[in-house]
Amino acid sequence: MRVGELIGPGRIEIVDRPEPDVLPGTVVVAIDRCGIGGPDIEAYRSGRLPAPAWFGHEWVGRVIEIGPGCVDRFEGERVVGAVPPPCGRCRWCLAGLGDQCEEVMAMILGTHPSASSHGAFAERIRVDSRRVHRVPEGVEDSNAALAEPAAVAAHAVARAGQRLGDVVAVIGAGTIGLLVAELARLAGAARVVAVDTEPGRRELACALGADAAFGPGPDVGRWLSEQGHGLGADVVYECAGRPEAVNGAIEAVRHGGSVVLVGISTQPGSVVPADLIERQLTLRASLGYTVADVHRALDLMADDRFRVSAIHERLIGFGELADTFAELASDPSAKRKVLLSPTP
Ligand SMILES: [Zn+2]
Repeated sequence: MRVGELIGPGRIEIVDRPEPDVLPGTVVVAIDRCGIGGPDIEAYRSGRLPAPAWFGHEWVGRVIEIGPGCVDRFEGERVVGAVPPPCGRCRWCLAGLGDQCEEVMAMILGTHPSASSHGAFAERIRVDSRRVHRVPEGVEDSNAALAEPAAVAAHAVARAGQRLGDVVAVIGAGTIGLLVAELARLAGAARVVAVDTEPGRRELACALGADAAFGPGPDVGRWLSEQGHGLGADVVYECAGRPEAVNGAIEAVRHGGSVVLVGISTQPGSVVPADLIERQLTLRASLGYTVADVHRALDLMADDRFRVSAIHERLIGFGELADTFAELASDPSAKRKVLLSPTP
């Protein structure tokens, strides 16, 4: 069986691996599509991964084998890989804080003992049965492969406390930002503006329903002032994951508004606490997603209200995987999602 593995910075190899063994509590899934996500590209650049299973974690496939002890996971089902429900056993779950479950986080990162020795840039993968979720009819494979980033976006919008008729700004129009912009609209935003340095991404944001898109600079503030009754945005989603974008978000939000941090910046920034206090801003962080967010995202795709197909650029085979990574890592304007179809 072929597997695409990251073996160092900028180095991917297609290797032959034994077929996955099904273990108690796990299923084997034949992968139909696996999306190349921003975190995969970051890992390709740095050569660093939390665990091998994390390389290729946006996938859809069919269950072909079921291990003993699995409940309600049927052979032949079309499923996506995502988080499990909270474990009910860790210190967070026992304290009634299942949304902070340690086991869920370990499964997302691929560091849990049940994790496969590779990610889903593979023909088949073994996965804990609690992590697979059925895909409703009417959701195409390529769209279903976006369930994971779509759930991240759904989680951010659910955490934002957005209200009907809000004026919303989304900073960073990569995959997550584009999905957030679309869901913010579905959640009742009256106006949505996207901010990104890349013209191609701005164009795509408008095609997906943003009212306007600008590069960083004074145009955003002017637009928000016009559209937001001279006040600014009610909610700003920071999806770029850069310290200067966090400052841009704080600048764009109105007094009493909310900034939701979705992009993960590991660089220190320079937020002035008094600025948040004087304007009584709410700062919320949104990490990952829950099973409910996965269902929400897929159900909205099935209804065709949440249109994600414009985000796809193309399908590739194993033979193009290494070159595609090199292309995506070197071209910051690469604006759309490339999906691996592992079976020819
Ligand atoms: Zn737990």
